[in-house]
Amino acid sequence: MPRIELLVVQPTPFCNIDCRYCYLPDRNSKAIVAPETLFNLFSQIFASGWIGDCLSVVWHAGEPMVLPIDFYRDAFQMIDQMKPAQLAVAHSLQTNGTLIDEAWCAFFGDEQVNVGVSIDGPKHLHDRNRLTRAGRGTFDRTIAGIRLLRRHEVPFHVISVLSTASMDAPREMFDFYVEEGIERVCFNVEESEGDHVSESFGEIGVEAAYYRFLSEFWRLSAAAPGKITFIREIEHAIQQVIRPADAPFHNQLVEPFAITSMDWAGNISTFSPELLGLKNRAYEDFLLGNVSRDALVDLPQRRNFTGMLADIQAGVEMCRERCAYFSVCGGGEPVNKLAENGSFISAETTYCRLTKMQATDLVLDALDRVRPAGLNRESAETGVCG
Ligand code: SF4
Repeated sequence: MPRIELLVVQPTPFCNIDCRYCYLPDRNSKAIVAPETLFNLFSQIFASGWIGDCLSVVWHAGEPMVLPIDFYRDAFQMIDQMKPAQLAVAHSLQTNGTLIDEAWCAFFGDEQVNVGVSIDGPKHLHDRNRLTRAGRGTFDRTIAGIRLLRRHEVPFHVISVLSTASMDAPREMFDFYVEEGIERVCFNVEESEGDHVSESFGEIGVEAAYYRFLSEFWRLSAAAPGKITFIREIEHAIQQVIRPADAPFHNQLVEPFAITSMDWAGNISTFSPELLGLKNRAYEDFLLGNVSRDALVDLPQRRNFTGMLADIQAGVEMCRERCAYFSVCGGGEPVNKLAENGSFISAETTYCRLTKMQATDLVLDALDRVRPAGLNRESAETGVCG
């Protein structure tokens, strides 16, 4: 039976800005999810038997804050009234931060919403890519939003998309976060997804540049305790590398419905959330059904789902056979395999070489430096590389 761990809900495909690397195909559409669609989604999910004690709901895939606060107040209240008593529901918003004001800060605090803000570093790096439709930079509005969150003591993290320019500037990135009181950071790389082709992936030496960036950023953080308290890429790599040899690795991105995504119209997808809006010659689209017409629990029997699952699992098996990093990765991200290799039935991508292999190597190299004499690298990696 599937187990939903993360539910991604697209309240609207619309975004008020127009980032150069955005892959969302319908970001000009001002459609909004209907209350009945949300009701159909959550009533089906709560009745499915597919959830455990906690469900994370991320409102994303457009700019969620273009909708009024009352939209979320009503939605959260409805979900709270419908959910099983013992179930904890944690809400998150991933935002570009440009619309944060005092009222939103009060709402985030009242509802204990987990807030993620996308900012790509200091102004000259951020404004290269994160632009308005008129082509102007958005840094000033985003940093004003972050400062408001801090003033209201709303916990938040940032996600920064690294370009080759920011990878060359770990000290400047570190100083920026520290000056702005940003303590929790996640780094993405500009990916090839859908119709978007990553410029960074075409750069010679991008893998070494990513390694150098993470390594130096980690060193700077360790040398200034309490400033940067969380670096997602390092934390995740450490958790995977240092674990009992028999602890299973779980890759949500290849588990059916572990991540379930719904667009504003009620269409359901799974595996990589980015698949929700994409089209593809072989698969047409990745929509499995609609919560207003179809029974969620019937979707695993649909032919388009079983075909996709078979291909994704074949890709995971290729990873298992070929890749020394399989035990810390679990077969990667289907959307990147499709975008870079043209098929789910494939293994290595530039994306995984950067985000999995380089981050893992960095942690293993650090362990090498601190490992007591007599313990060699192979024995320390027994639980790491399958
Ligand atoms: S690192 Fe890449 S090749 Fe290795 S298991 Fe992950 S996705 Fe597959």
